[in-house]
Amino acid sequence: MAADMSASASCGDSARSALDPDALRRGVLDNLICLQARPLAIATPHDWYMALAYSVRDRMLARWAATIQTYAARELRVACYLSAEFLIGPQLGNNLVNLGIEAEARAAMQSLGQDLDGLIALEEEPGLGNGGLGRLAACYLDSLATLQIPSVGYGIRYEFGIFDQVIRDGRQVEATDKWLQKGNPWEIVRPNVNYYVRFGGHTQVENDAQGRYCVRWIPAHMVKGVACDTPMLGFRVNTCNTLRLWKSEAVESFDLEDFNAGDYYQAVQEKVISETLSKVLYPNDEPEAGKRLRLAQQYFFVSCSLQDMLRLLDIKGEPIARFSDMFTVQLNDTHPSIAVAELMRLLVDERQVPWDEAWNITRGTLAYTNHTLLPEALETWGLPLFRSLLPRLLEIIYEINRRFLDEVRQRYPGDDARVARMSMIDEAGEKKVRMAHLATVGCHAVNGVAELHSALLKQTVMRDFAQLWPERFKNVTNGVTPRRFMLLSNPGLARLLDKTVGEGWATDLTRLRALESHADDPGFLDEWRRVKYSNKAILAQHIRSTTGVEVDPAALFDIQVKRIHEYKRQHLNALYIVTLYQRLRRDPQLAVAPRCFVFGGKAAPGYAMAKLIIRLINGVAEVVNNDPSIAGRLKVVFYPNFNVKNAQFIYPAADLSEQISTAGKEASGTGNMKFMMNGALTIGTLDGANVEIREEVGEENFFLFGMTDSQVEELRRDGYRPADFAAGNGELRDALDLIVSGHFSRGDRDMFRPLVDNLLHADPFFVLADYADYVACQERVNSAWHDMRRWTRMSILNTARSGKFSSDRAIGEYCHEIWKIRPVSVALERL
Ligand SMILES: *Cc1c(COP(=O)(O)O)cnc(C)c1O
Repeated sequence: MAADMSASASCGDSARSALDPDALRRGVLDNLICLQARPLAIATPHDWYMALAYSVRDRMLARWAATIQTYAARELRVACYLSAEFLIGPQLGNNLVNLGIEAEARAAMQSLGQDLDGLIALEEEPGLGNGGLGRLAACYLDSLATLQIPSVGYGIRYEFGIFDQVIRDGRQVEATDKWLQKGNPWEIVRPNVNYYVRFGGHTQVENDAQGRYCVRWIPAHMVKGVACDTPMLGFRVNTCNTLRLWKSEAVESFDLEDFNAGDYYQAVQEKVISETLSKVLYPNDEPEAGKRLRLAQQYFFVSCSLQDMLRLLDIKGEPIARFSDMFTVQLNDTHPSIAVAELMRLLVDERQVPWDEAWNITRGTLAYTNHTLLPEALETWGLPLFRSLLPRLLEIIYEINRRFLDEVRQRYPGDDARVARMSMIDEAGEKKVRMAHLATVGCHAVNGVAELHSALLKQTVMRDFAQLWPERFKNVTNGVTPRRFMLLSNPGLARLLDKTVGEGWATDLTRLRALESHADDPGFLDEWRRVKYSNKAILAQHIRSTTGVEVDPAALFDIQVKRIHEYKRQHLNALYIVTLYQRLRRDPQLAVAPRCFVFGGKAAPGYAMAKLIIRLINGVAEVVNNDPSIAGRLKVVFYPNFNVKNAQFIYPAADLSEQISTAGKEASGTGNMKFMMNGALTIGTLDGANVEIREEVGEENFFLFGMTDSQVEELRRDGYRPADFAAGNGELRDALDLIVSGHFSRGDRDMFRPLVDNLLHADPFFVLADYADYVACQERVNSAWHDMRRWTRMSILNTARSGKFSSDRAIGEYCHEIWKIRPVSVALERL
């Protein structure tokens, strides 16, 4: 059913606003000429895509305008989600689903001789994120709009997002992302919404007109941030929120007199640097951090976003003291944590707010989400770098730190070790600014992203802070949007769910519980299996066309898609495949369920071990897929360039979801939730949200293996010797030997040496320690697969009990527990 569009007269003629197929058809034809400037006779598929996208956007704009007007007129609090990444995925299909006009668009395009699915597939992925963290931000925007929460997403408009991954000779090769090459119909640039951001230079102490002490920051150069907006429509509601991404530009017409030496070429150089700022997304998981441009990007988008909030406050005529009533700001990881110091600077230096009052406003406004316990991923910046780029911000951090450490000393007299541990400045060795400490001190709430993660946070990296301020620490378990990852990605399942539990489940996912009463109905089991089979057939088709590998949709589809990282342990999965392969070679009669192993994911370009894992998977694939003694019973596929676009046909095709990270390392995971919703069973460790998935679905419907986080810690403390595990397990030794023998590297005995040596002599993620239990667990998977009725029942129960993992539930908790914010409905009549 389509959303209410009765009062859409504001947007003029119905070709722009009406939702019926005929009006859509007229809209597309108009836009083909008026926006795409293409006569019908020579329109390319891309022209048709653009014309359709503009026509869908037309239908969103009245809602967008009404939403903006509602937020401007009413006294309300706006949730601002600050994130360096938004992995929003292609927009056309999602907007059609949220508007409720998929069928109408299909009919309209058919009448024009165009295939809707083909056009949807033409949209480039806006890859403005690395993986889970960026996709979480995107799921949250969908839920915020659907739940009618006044909100804005703030981030960076990277000209080049995450690289495109190409596999050449089994290796990852990075190609530049070209998402903007053919234009972006969803983006509205607002050149008049722009702010200046300072960099470098020095500060000086002065007295202002009233004779008050103040500090002036004289920058070495300035960069202009321009707002680039994307509408974020909720599902079947009028609320259409804004994703506002900042693009950097040179400050216009640089005046030569501003440049001391009057050096024209120096000025041009500055201009080039300014425009470079939002050029490219940094890959995470790089072993080496500390990049100047990255800190500049973070400060740039945070400053623009906070200045934007202050401007809105002024427009509304509200006094500065009301800032935290009008805005609540969520920091997605430490990437935007410079907001603590920047908001202080804007209030104290630019608005002359006294320090204590500014501090209350800052802490009252900001909240911080921690996303990782991995020490190497906790952001720090070297002091010299920080000082040279953001001299005034460093002074402010020192002042915040001074006052904070006074408080610590008062609470814990004489405990110098604690003071040193909690300081925002790491004084051991080369001095560094600890961004997580800045965020924790400057925010009124700190949350982890799954129950286990939030608990571990308090016991490990945030222990001292949790002792000082226990009330500040919360948990909000992540969630994912069922609109994109069920309705849009899995239309076959959506139809079956509509028929079985009634419409409405997509905005109240706990209604899927009603499926449980059908889990023993043989007719329903058949229908369920047919949906899964056709999703697998679709994936098989994509696999054939992108990799050339033939896979049988009747096989067990065992899928691990996520960033490639040692802690996620794709190599553990590969070791099992090698083991299975060896068993089959030794005993060709062995009863093994036909399995298709699918991997996907990008490795950070500088992360050699992750790239070697990709090479290993492809090496194993080449051998296993072509070995006649295997006779097609095992297939291994590395699906290239995993992203949101292809995720949409990968998750729905899974029978088995691989969530096998070392316990204590995966903060939450969200891929695990997408698989579960789409009826995959999970094989996994007690890590991140797996713990809660297992709680919800029941232990009998989850394949659990591996050490717990405390067993991992214990083993580490006792001195882990991975070689002992290999020595004690013949199959494991054989698998490792086969890998170093050159069997999977065309005789090259050196290729996988670093990987195997690392496993045998360091194994920082306990792959060898968990191997035996993993293999045993996979055997339980094999026998469960042989009982198809039981498997299908478990699959149904996974979907039925996935309600908790809707991002609507997560956003509801943020609203209630952290933001103290309520829905505001938007009426279209406003215009
Ligand atoms: C959901 C998602 C992720 C996160 O996957 P995890 O298994 O939680 O690491 C990464 N990339 C894409 C494209 C996703 O859709």
